[in-house]
Amino acid sequence: MSGNNVRLQAIKDVEAYVPPTASFELTEAPGEIFGENVFSKAVMQRRLPKSVYKSVLATIDHSAPLDPMIADAVASAMKDWAMEKGATHYAHVFYPLTGLTAEKHDSFLEPAGDGSALAEFAGKTLTQGEPDASSFPSGGLRNTFEARGYTGWDVTSPAYVLENPNGNTLCIPTIFVSMTGEALDHKTPLLRSQQAMAEHAERILRLFGHEPDRVVSYCGAEQEYFLVDRHFFLARPDLLNAGRTLFGSKPPKGQEFDDHYFGAIPERVLGFMMDTERELFKLGIPAKTRHNEVAPGQFEIAPMFERANVAADHQQLLMTTFKTIAKKHGMECLFHEKPFEGVNGSGKHVNFSLGNTTEGNLLLPGDNPHDNAQFLVFCGAVIRAVHQYGGLLRASVASASNDHRLGANEAPPAIISIFLGDQLTDVFDQIAKGGATSSKDKGTLMVGVDTLPVLPTDPGDRNRTSPFAFTGNRFEFRAPGSMQSVAGPMVTINTIMAEALDYIATNIEDAMAAGTEFNTAVQDVLSEIISDHGAVVFNGDGYSENWQIEAAARGLPNLRTTLDALPELVSGPSIKLFEQYKVFSEREMHSRYEIGLEQYALSIGVEARLTLEVGATSVLPAAMRYQTEVAVNLGALKAAGVEVDTAPLELVSGPVSDLRVALGALAAALQADSPETPMAEAVHSRDVLLPAMAAVRSAADELEGIVADDLWPLPTYQEMLFIL
Ligand code: ADP
Ligand code: MG
Repeated sequence: MSGNNVRLQAIKDVEAYVPPTASFELTEAPGEIFGENVFSKAVMQRRLPKSVYKSVLATIDHSAPLDPMIADAVASAMKDWAMEKGATHYAHVFYPLTGLTAEKHDSFLEPAGDGSALAEFAGKTLTQGEPDASSFPSGGLRNTFEARGYTGWDVTSPAYVLENPNGNTLCIPTIFVSMTGEALDHKTPLLRSQQAMAEHAERILRLFGHEPDRVVSYCGAEQEYFLVDRHFFLARPDLLNAGRTLFGSKPPKGQEFDDHYFGAIPERVLGFMMDTERELFKLGIPAKTRHNEVAPGQFEIAPMFERANVAADHQQLLMTTFKTIAKKHGMECLFHEKPFEGVNGSGKHVNFSLGNTTEGNLLLPGDNPHDNAQFLVFCGAVIRAVHQYGGLLRASVASASNDHRLGANEAPPAIISIFLGDQLTDVFDQIAKGGATSSKDKGTLMVGVDTLPVLPTDPGDRNRTSPFAFTGNRFEFRAPGSMQSVAGPMVTINTIMAEALDYIATNIEDAMAAGTEFNTAVQDVLSEIISDHGAVVFNGDGYSENWQIEAAARGLPNLRTTLDALPELVSGPSIKLFEQYKVFSEREMHSRYEIGLEQYALSIGVEARLTLEVGATSVLPAAMRYQTEVAVNLGALKAAGVEVDTAPLELVSGPVSDLRVALGALAAALQADSPETPMAEAVHSRDVLLPAMAAVRSAADELEGIVADDLWPLPTYQEMLFIL
């Protein structure tokens, strides 16, 4: 019987597996391959007529509107370059609200009428596409009979050639909108929010006497992920279809043994990392491999920060690349926020700053932050923004899968607060009292070894429990989930920053018009911000019980689940904000809200059906086989006149009957009439399906510790997490 046991077969296959070894060394120097497959500025400079190149550059670097007259010239150069790189097809790549990447592939070759084929790629084909949009969520923004959507070229994110054994493809990053111009994707609002933030940041810079170049927001995303052997992955229908385990008891050796963190990276994983790095380099993604993460089997990669819209595209490409290359190495890369219950989950920290070529990073405090009024204004804007719109930030990272992480005692809590660190908190305290005159010493770290330099400690360092932490020259938003696009959080950050900067600029301008001196106007607005919004600053332990109580007293929202958070999207103040800065219309906000609810119910629905299927067809039969074995065995002993203890039979029979009852209840919950509104359906998922799944799991996990090992059908946590 055990010959058919998929788990035991998987263990054998894992033991016999020989990973590819060839990839341990980069064959070329990283500098040579970096950006090799990117239609970069350098490539454009070489291949485009001078005037065309200048015009494209003005759009990329200074956000000048794209001149439609140049599209043909760029398209033709791009096509020649891509075909030299072996591309046969081109694709408009866009980012629908499923969180995945979508592509519409077309061949360069077009029939020429005389039976031959011509390689065609006109400017219009580059700048605009018309994919069938009907299979992507629109939240009511279009009816199926007007299924068309448009893709439009994002000139500021470079095109690239994606290699594939079946032929290479020229990929063009695009926005994706409905026929009426409403956003159906992540990129459109990101570009709009970027523009809004830039306008008001530049107003502030002009008040400080600069003639600023275009301000942009930067994003550096730290991506956490798990690797499991593919044999195990394929033997777990839950991992395969839902991305997380719906069964499985915690391993006896868990992450309480911190030996994994910064531990040695297994050779097989190292091979995978080298391979991914090379591929990412070719695509112009500046990736830095990282240490092991907290949990066994968990790792991290942190690409260098880039302009937010480019970083968002690169992030998506990185995830696709990881999935593909993991397969090549016999592993599956898991981006789910909580693939294993009871084991640390995965996040995607979004490091955010803003700046431009003339003034540099606007969140750089310098040695004497108290003296750096411009920095304090930008930092003050963050404080106002996060305090006013913490609920929106929470909503920007809301999903069924991220709910397993946020608020659990490992990731930042669902309460959005800011960590400033001692030095800056002290400076803002002084401002609140009438003016800052000194900065506390950064402090130095004495290592106690004379030959080593004295290490300065980072003034904003390290509070892993804070969801929005200042880390020396940027803020790190730690609530985004590992599976999510960074675009959603960045749209929110840009927009709430636009509002705060607008507020500050207007305030200073008005005060000066009324005769107040500039420095006094700055001091006044900053001290007002600290007294109105200082409640959001919290440097303590975000995981502590006390913080929940204190945060409530401070009036900070604690939106525990997705369904608590999503309504923030359609609140009066949110709609007003997004409309005012032209990032979303009211209709677009409502569509996003509806899509959020739909996706939530959809993903829990899939999990519930999987729980039922695996529970009924895999776990229950195994448990009953074991139950029969025990019963037969006891009967035989009894017949032989041996005194029989029935405890082993009772031990398995209890949870078997619990499991049957729980499966029955889950089946009934799934059959219940589906509720009328999207919110009611989502609430049904949260309040009925999730608990029903938990009951099935609890009985099944108990059985895992009882049923004979050779009968147990699902690879265990122990096996998946520790055999690499
Ligand atoms: P950590 O100590 O959190 O691991 P890292 O130095 O690895 O920090 O940086 C994490 C991420 O922050 C990287 O993606 C990095 O490029 C990014 N980052 C660094 N400086 C900035 C900045 N000024 N703006 C945005 N992101 C930044
Ligand atoms: Mg970090």
